[in-house]
Amino acid sequence: MPLPSVRVVEIGRFEFQEMPLQAPGEDEVLIRVDVTGLCRTDLKIVQVGHRDLVLPRVPGEEVVGTVEAVGSGVRQCKPGERVYVYPGMWCGQCPACRAGAENLCRQMQIMGFHRDGGFAPHVTVPAQSVIPVPEGLAADAAIFAEPLSCCLNALERASLKGGEQVGIWGAGPAGTLLARAAHARNARPLNIEPDQRRRELIGGVATAAGRLFDVAVVAVGDRDAYREALAHMAPRGRLVVFSGLAPQDDRPEVSFNQLHYMEQTLVGAYGCCHRHGQEALAMIADGRVPVADMVSHRLPLSQLDAALTLVAQRAGMKILLYPWQEETAG
Ligand SMILES: [Zn+2]
Repeated sequence: MPLPSVRVVEIGRFEFQEMPLQAPGEDEVLIRVDVTGLCRTDLKIVQVGHRDLVLPRVPGEEVVGTVEAVGSGVRQCKPGERVYVYPGMWCGQCPACRAGAENLCRQMQIMGFHRDGGFAPHVTVPAQSVIPVPEGLAADAAIFAEPLSCCLNALERASLKGGEQVGIWGAGPAGTLLARAAHARNARPLNIEPDQRRRELIGGVATAAGRLFDVAVVAVGDRDAYREALAHMAPRGRLVVFSGLAPQDDRPEVSFNQLHYMEQTLVGAYGCCHRHGQEALAMIADGRVPVADMVSHRLPLSQLDAALTLVAQRAGMKILLYPWQEETAG
């Protein structure tokens, strides 16, 4: 019996559906999904929608899998190869693409948002998005390339330099990866996290009291965290707007006189570029960014409901889902 895919049919409701398997187009690759990662954005997609979401949709923007078939024009990979999928599909022509910021492409099509994603036994992706997984790197570790890529983009946007103090609001999977990526860049990260369980994994602190940061990254969708981060920026500090806010919280107060007199900067960071995926895989493969201890749950895709509850309750760290697994492995 074919295995079902997850399909969000309307905001707040998804179904398990068997989807027909299609042969890849000329420049496409058909991938058997070995593992797909769950993140807070998926909870957002199911419960409240997202700016870039087009329904109905198979979600899932974190995919590591095995190439099953390729279109006639594909040279990037061959059947049998293990690949990580950069979730974007970009035009390569617009000003953003030409500036090396394809995450801001005017025609960006994101897997799991505009195109069907990895909460399925198979996914079809453009060949341009496929990146080989380094030999010897387990799929369960390679899957962190997507969230880590977004962290690398954020640190790049912040123009982070070695030796700088980095305050990271949140110590969930994103906050933890941000700290480890900053550490790998020879900076000095500290996570601000009120939840003691999460704080323990990374050795953060409960509040930012008495501290000033060269770079502040807010990795929780919380207006109060933005308020606190703004108050703890050093002179010439950069605040990275990494997490989006709910529409009703979208206007935290900012003192422009503070930015003026302290020469501080606000920078946005959204998603990642293809090159960040390559860099992230290399950093995971050579151990610069350890990820194994961040997996809290491994569940069959059929238990998505339970997995989303864990995310909503912040009861886990990284949750990995397996479309080909029928029973819980623990
Ligand atoms: Zn473009």
